[in-house]
Amino acid sequence: MEVSIIGSGYVGLITGISLAELGHEVTFIDLDEEKIGDINSGKPPIFEKGLEELMKKTKGRYKATTNYRAITETDTTFICVGTPSKEDGSIDLTFIKSAATEIGNALKEKDKFHVIVVKSTVVPGTTEEVVKPIIEKESGKEAFKDFGLAMNPEFLREGNAVEDFFNPDRIVIGVKDEKTKEIMEKFYFPFKCPKLITDIKTAEMIKYASNAFLATKISFANEIGNICKKLGIDAYDVFKGVGLDHRINPSFFRSGIGFGGSCFPKDVKALIAKAEELGENPKLLKAVIDVNERQPLKLIELLKKHITNLEGKTIGILGLAFKPDTDDIRESRAIPIVKSLLEEGAKVIAYDPKAMDNFRELFPQLIYAESAEKVLEKSDAVLIVTEWEEFKNLDYNGHVVVDGRRIEKAKRDARIYEGVCW
Ligand code: NAD
Repeated sequence: MEVSIIGSGYVGLITGISLAELGHEVTFIDLDEEKIGDINSGKPPIFEKGLEELMKKTKGRYKATTNYRAITETDTTFICVGTPSKEDGSIDLTFIKSAATEIGNALKEKDKFHVIVVKSTVVPGTTEEVVKPIIEKESGKEAFKDFGLAMNPEFLREGNAVEDFFNPDRIVIGVKDEKTKEIMEKFYFPFKCPKLITDIKTAEMIKYASNAFLATKISFANEIGNICKKLGIDAYDVFKGVGLDHRINPSFFRSGIGFGGSCFPKDVKALIAKAEELGENPKLLKAVIDVNERQPLKLIELLKKHITNLEGKTIGILGLAFKPDTDDIRESRAIPIVKSLLEEGAKVIAYDPKAMDNFRELFPQLIYAESAEKVLEKSDAVLIVTEWEEFKNLDYNGHVVVDGRRIEKAKRDARIYEGVCW
């Protein structure tokens, strides 16, 4: 099929290139000319395992443009633009609205049935109450008759996104009309995982409930982990024992310094805001965020057990990305940690294999080291913030290490070692 993708970030690019791999012809549309240039020259504008190879392999089956008229040459359009948080935590639909406006405009000139798929994470009600009326108004056409509308949430994990696209746990498709349902089923025919067809609002909610649950699992592990730390208990052993209960499941169940990234924090906050708009008080979700905001600062608290006054001290940071195997620093736990160190007058020397360029834009005043070894060499104490593979084999001998991610070698070899919840 001929597919257009509006928004060529993590989700749009992975979706589009993977659809090209499945044999579809894909056109990426984005506002960012640099991204468009990169994609057209087969270069991934983001770092994601396996993406560069896949872009090489599928070259010729995708192209990129800033011109929305390209929509009319396709049968299906996936909306993959960002849905950030507003100041108050509620969802910012600016990009969704402008994408819907452009799609509506383009569809004015198209006679054939066209399917629009919302893949961005949007609070329940958005597809039918915001996207649909905008497209109808701009195009002069009627939804579910002249054009189809589906909501197809994305569950990929950054760092593992290509692998996740081809091996999903499940596919959720929210639809209303039969024709759109058939087209969506055709797209996902090659996948053998469970496929759940729901109404549009339910599909939107499944995404939020999933992320809220995973975020809750982490904040729960951190709260128990903080109690363990005070009791001299290793929270890792505790959660190994707890996770073996098949009703609980061991994955995604570790203590540390909390969750970051472009999804969990913003999605939980957006769900809280939506709940409050509806007159609900989502106490549990608020506590999940509260625990998560305090957790990274535990590293500073533990550091100060060993270096009481941080003024003028050089503190090393290992890892800036919000998790390993990505260059994404959105809501990275490194941000509040670095802020707090700078406020205390410390000098910060940092290293990350992929995320230093992005971090430098936020914190140009740090010293960015060429290697993890240099960080160890030059600092009075080191904080482990992201569990990159290469940090598992460093020589921590003789160093003061405060570990937020459980690097066994550091635990074994450091001169002074503090684990956040162990
Ligand atoms: P992103 O910020 O990486 O990419 C969004 C892209 O959309 C940018 O390239 C931007 O230039 C472009 N854009 C914005 N407005 C546009 C417009 N009107 N027309 C064309 N392009 C436009 O975002 P992302 O991380 O890919 O996330 C996209 C959506 O997917 C969000 O709703 C997010 O919550 C959801 N999601 C993200 C992930 C993830 O791991 N990143 C996983 C699942 C779901």
